[in-house]
Amino acid sequence: MGVATNTTILKNYINGEWVEAAAAETLPVPDPATGEDMALVPLSTAEDVRKAVASAEEAYRTWRDVPVTDRAQVLFRLKILLDAHHEDLTRAVVRENGKTHNEAWGEVRRGIEVVEFACGAPSLIQGRSLQDVSRGVDTTMLRFPIGVVGGISPFNFPAMIPLWMAPVAIVCGNTFVHKPSERTPLSANMLADLWTEAGLPKGVLNVVHGAKDAVNGLLTDPGVRAISFVGSQPVAEYVYKTAAAHGKRVQALAGAKNFVIVMPDADQDRAADLVLSSAFGNAGERCLAGSTIVTVGTAAQTLVPKLIERARAMRVGSGLDSATDMGPVIRADHSARVENYIEIGVREGATLALDGRDGKPEQPGNGFFLRPSIFTGVTPEMTIAREEIFGPVLSILEAETLDEAITTANGSRFGNAAVICTSSGAAARQFQMRIEAGMVGVNVGVPAPVAWFPFAGWKQSFYGDLHATGEDSIHFYTERKVVTSRW
Ligand code: NAD
Repeated sequence: MGVATNTTILKNYINGEWVEAAAAETLPVPDPATGEDMALVPLSTAEDVRKAVASAEEAYRTWRDVPVTDRAQVLFRLKILLDAHHEDLTRAVVRENGKTHNEAWGEVRRGIEVVEFACGAPSLIQGRSLQDVSRGVDTTMLRFPIGVVGGISPFNFPAMIPLWMAPVAIVCGNTFVHKPSERTPLSANMLADLWTEAGLPKGVLNVVHGAKDAVNGLLTDPGVRAISFVGSQPVAEYVYKTAAAHGKRVQALAGAKNFVIVMPDADQDRAADLVLSSAFGNAGERCLAGSTIVTVGTAAQTLVPKLIERARAMRVGSGLDSATDMGPVIRADHSARVENYIEIGVREGATLALDGRDGKPEQPGNGFFLRPSIFTGVTPEMTIAREEIFGPVLSILEAETLDEAITTANGSRFGNAAVICTSSGAAARQFQMRIEAGMVGVNVGVPAPVAWFPFAGWKQSFYGDLHATGEDSIHFYTERKVVTSRW
């Protein structure tokens, strides 16, 4: 698991071997905090994907028949190895994604929790039976793996999101082909090495690096039975439609625009900290980021000055520096895209109360840094209130009542997450009942994924039926068979 140098072309992991991609094209993988290239990622083709799928198909023939108790043993060993390499993985995530050490450490921890969940497979994949459905006739429901699963992940959680998918798919008896984000491909290779060390037979897990062509290879390959995707909304919709048209089961977790409602009865100090961590954690590059605040009644008067003062004081820098509150964004072009949204916000009449384009942090190198930006006077129809910016930009709207605030939040075409800050149980309950979102928080910064529960959004934040993790993941990665017998 050596650290890649800038001339290293990353290899694909196929049938238990690190192999060169057939692809001629590569992309640099810069460290977002310095702009220095760490490696080159190959843009694998459908031919590379075919090799990986063929290896997964071959491995499936034996892996599906390995007793689930033995498959779970690999997961127990993986959990121990992940704990032992927690710091290595954390540092890889910081270097390839730019987030802070604390954020990366937490991400790896959330991923390990899914492995802990998957260790329970012998209980989780049990079927059920009913004797005497008719006189002398018994019916039993059994679960089977489905075959080769393709997993396509985004750049913003390079360790956690692959761990939402592969551990559950594999422990259920499937084999897996992972296509990591081409922007953050390093931790995927570290994870593959840990799976191998945990004793996973060759071909059960494969990694194919690349972008659109590799994704299309997975979506259309007849050997792939199911696709787990996490990424932006347009790509999620495309993946869902294309994979379904090719006869595959699909779950596609998509983009977001998350609202945080702050009631006047909330502890405003605490609410300010929650809002800042929600909006600016991971430099705003989270599908759960509370990037749009709706203050109710008088809340704005106390909350907004605190937000501006504290956001201005945030230390922006390398994620490896323990003094850093917020790291860089992923790429220079992404930074330009965020700056463009700031210009649009100004043009559409919002007040830029804190301009994160001013005074970029003094860091050695050419990192992709922005400071936190805050808009006030935002209205629901403005672009910055509707579109996912995916950067450190907070938009503040005002409402007279909780009802109005909920209506504003529900006006979004997205429905990934929503949060309320309040000291009123009645307000929290009303919010919980009426808000149109899959992940709901009460007095938390983000309603983070909990491995033992299903995770996904509503509306255009999700395409599919069964969510990631929890019992939904067991259903997604298994096929049911009902046997009725008379002897
Ligand atoms: P992205 O959609 O650009 O990329 C995701 C994956 O799709 C990558 O592996 C990429 O190579 C591939 N891809 C990109 N463009 C493609 C195309 N045209 N055709 C086929 N494949 C393509 O997403 P990203 O920028 O890496 O990640 C950020 C996005 O992911 C945000 O919108 C965020 O909200 C979303 N996200 C959602 C969740 C969730 O749980 N709902 C979690 C994390 C991230």
